[in-house]
Amino acid sequence: MSDVFLSLDGLNKTFEGSPAPAVSEVSFSMPKGEILALLGPSGCGKTTTLRLIAGFESPDRGTISIGGRIVQSGDVEFPPEERGVGFVFQDYALFPHLDTRRNVEFGLSRLTLDDRRRRTREAMDLCGLEGMESRFPHELSGGQQQRTALARALAPGYELLLLDEPLSNLDAALRTSLCKELRRILKHAGRAAIVVTHDREEAFQIADRVAVMRNGGLEQVGSARELHDRPVSRFVAEFVLDATFLAGVVARQGVVTEIGPIPGADSLAAGTKVVVAVRPQQLELTPSPDGAGVVVERVFRGSHERYRVRLPSGTELSSFRTIRTDASSLDVGAPVALKLTDPAPPIFVE
Ligand code: ADP
Ligand code: MG
Repeated sequence: MSDVFLSLDGLNKTFEGSPAPAVSEVSFSMPKGEILALLGPSGCGKTTTLRLIAGFESPDRGTISIGGRIVQSGDVEFPPEERGVGFVFQDYALFPHLDTRRNVEFGLSRLTLDDRRRRTREAMDLCGLEGMESRFPHELSGGQQQRTALARALAPGYELLLLDEPLSNLDAALRTSLCKELRRILKHAGRAAIVVTHDREEAFQIADRVAVMRNGGLEQVGSARELHDRPVSRFVAEFVLDATFLAGVVARQGVVTEIGPIPGADSLAAGTKVVVAVRPQQLELTPSPDGAGVVVERVFRGSHERYRVRLPSGTELSSFRTIRTDASSLDVGAPVALKLTDPAPPIFVE
C-alpha cells in the first residue's frame, strides 16, 4: 500500500510482573484520513496499543511509523511530543484551573499569538464550543468537556488523533448524538483517527474500519460488511455479530445439526466437528407444537424482539424477529420450529 499513513508491525508489550502480554504481535496499517475503531472487551490491550502509538509506553518489540517516519524501532524511540499525534484521554484530562480557550490553546505555545488564536478558534468552532471560551471545566457538561478535549487534540493540526473510549463517560442518549458528531468533526478536519471502544454499535457508527482485539492480539481488521460476511473466528462472530453457535458434523450434503442439514463447509472433510455461527437476524422461528425448540426468553427491543430458544441438547440460540401488527409474539415456554435462512453462515472447526 503506497498510501499508508500509520503502520504498526509486530508490536509487543508485557508489563513487568504480568504473566501475559498486554499487547501481542499487533500489526496493522491505515491510510491518511481513515477512522479506525479499536474494538474489544475490557482488558484486551486497547489502551496499551494506543499509548504505544503515542509514545507514552515503550514496546518490548515492534516498529511504528507515522507519516513515513519511523518513530519506534529497536533503539529508535521518538518522545510523544515529536510523534505528531493528538490524544484524547478517557477522562479527558482537562486542566481544571484553565478555562476552555486556554485548555484548547495549551499545545500551541510554539506558535505566534495570532496563529495560536486562529487555531484555537477554528478547533473550538468545529467542535461546537462557541460561547464556552471563558468557562472552566467544572462549569461544562460532560459532552462539553468531551468537545473541549477533542478541540485541544485537534488544535495543533496533527494528522493523527488517538481517542481512548471518548464517549464512555456520557449517558446513552448523548453518546449516540456525540458519536455521529465525532465522526463528522474528524471527517471534516480530514484527520486519521483511532477510536478505542468496547461498544460495537459505537465502533460501526464512528469508524470506516474496525479492528477487533482479543487477549492482546488483533483478531481481525475490516469494514462492517467484511466482519459481518467473513468473520475469521468464533470470537469475532460472537462479539461483533452477536452470533450464537450450533454444533454439527460435516457430511456430504453440508453440516448435520440438531435443526437439520445446513449448507456449507465444502472444503472440510466429512466427519469434521464444527460449529455454525447463527446470526440472530437469520434464524426464523415458527410456532409449532412438535418444533425442536422452546422459547426461554423474550426481550422487546423497539423494532424487533430478541428471543432465546433452547434445543433438546441444551444449546441456546438467539433470534431477532421484526415486530409486525399481523403477527403475535411468541410466549416463553412455546414450542417452535427453527429454520436458518442464512445462505452462507460462518462455520468454524471446533
Ligand atoms: P483495555 O484498554 O483494552 O481495557 P489495557 O490496555 O488497559 O486494556 O490493559 C491490557 C492489560 O494490561 C490488562 O490486563 C491490564 O491489567 C494490563 N495493564 C495495563 N496497564 C498496565 C500497567 N501500567 N501495569 C501493569 N499492567 C497493566
Ligand atoms: Mg482501556
